Amino acid sequence: MEFQLWHCSDCGDEREFVQPTCTDGHTEDGGPCPDWACVDCGAALVTGVAPRTLVGSGLTHAA
Ligand SMILES: [Zn+2]
Ligand SMILES: [Zn+2]
Repeated sequence: MEFQLWHCSDCGDEREFVQPTCTDGHTEDGGPCPDWACVDCGAALVTGVAPRTLVGSGLTHAA
């Protein structure tokens, strides 16, 4: 599986990100799916968009 190394804000370090099977229809028009997920913690990362944009959408951690 293809993967990319990015900094994961949840892990606080560089992690491998993989593209799970797209279920949102991003690839229906032939384009690449922008969704990536950290293999360690599963944090979602949208290409080019900082994960912090998810803050305030209700996806806060319950730790
Ligand atoms: Zn997708
Ligand atoms: Zn992570």
